[in-house]
Amino acid sequence: METARIISKDDIVELIDRFIVAYQVIAPSVIDDRVMYKYVSDASEVDLEYRGHTLLPPKRFFFPEKEVLFTYEISDKGTVSIYDKCEELKGLQRVFIGIKPCDISSLKILDKVLISEFHDPYYAIRRNNTLLIGITCSEPLDYCFCYYTGSGPSTDDGYDLLLTDLGEEYLVRIGSNRGLMLIKYNIDLFKEANEEKIALAKKLIEKAELKMREQRLPSFENIYEVMIKNFNSKIWEEYGRACLACGKCNFTCPTCTCFDIFDEVNLDLKSGRRVRVWDSCHFLSFTQVASGEIFRKSRPSRVKQRIYHKYCYSLDEIGVISCVGCGRCIEVCTARIDLRDIIRRLYGYE
Ligand code: SF4
Ligand code: SF4
Repeated sequence: METARIISKDDIVELIDRFIVAYQVIAPSVIDDRVMYKYVSDASEVDLEYRGHTLLPPKRFFFPEKEVLFTYEISDKGTVSIYDKCEELKGLQRVFIGIKPCDISSLKILDKVLISEFHDPYYAIRRNNTLLIGITCSEPLDYCFCYYTGSGPSTDDGYDLLLTDLGEEYLVRIGSNRGLMLIKYNIDLFKEANEEKIALAKKLIEKAELKMREQRLPSFENIYEVMIKNFNSKIWEEYGRACLACGKCNFTCPTCTCFDIFDEVNLDLKSGRRVRVWDSCHFLSFTQVASGEIFRKSRPSRVKQRIYHKYCYSLDEIGVISCVGCGRCIEVCTARIDLRDIIRRLYGYE
């Protein structure tokens, strides 16, 4: 790929406004004192200088919390017509700007689950039609531990363009031909980056890494073996007693993909829709089968399931852990269950 470029902070505002004319634009924006990804209609709504992560993950723009998959109608003659909602997504053209490396990494994990062995057309179409302009993280929050999961504060791939905030301007790395085309179409806003700017970006990323390393977490390299060794540990009972089974950790997690599907029938009893909604492995109903049997009745078994899925079963299923160290689950947990404490204890650190 080509050398890096520089864009000034004034010119990025102009670039976003140009995007808004041609695309649907998703970007971080302040809502009620929190930064959230949302659709924006003006560059002034965009906050590219937010610390750490947004409250909700980017997955909801690719795999929404609730979506109608198709609607159906039965005619008087008994013929069934189905209208697949995928059709409405075909013209989608989006730019997602300001997505952090941990969240870019989470999309790579979702790809392995949703468009690898199995193909989810609703996810695939949104993913293929969305350009990603990431931004490296210079100020992690206290909850962030992406350095340890290898998902941040920068990334080498998974983006079309990647910005690093240098103060008055951004360094722009090019990650794909689509990213290169974006620059070519807006060439008047960019200039070549010299070695000094590239070195400064590297230094800022290293500084963010150093801040996270103060947490002194263990290396995650042998986490699979550590998880196997601790399968019957007493800590699962302890965390299970604390857990409120609210599911907030799942819903804010950028890599949780479990869902439920149900049919909604209209009162004419001849038409309706099939709906998909996010589900949570913390809910009692999650493992309930048609006979009424519930396979994971106890909370400890459900707490354990989430953690084992992240750090053990995912390695078996998709070859990588399914945690990007964003820390959202730590931030939102009312029971103050902190994944990093669990990891430290599993490794025998305390
Ligand atoms: S957010 Fe905390 S309390 Fe709620 S289900 Fe997750 S671990 Fe349990
Ligand atoms: S498990 Fe927690 S820290 Fe890991 S990706 Fe999910 S929300 Fe982020």
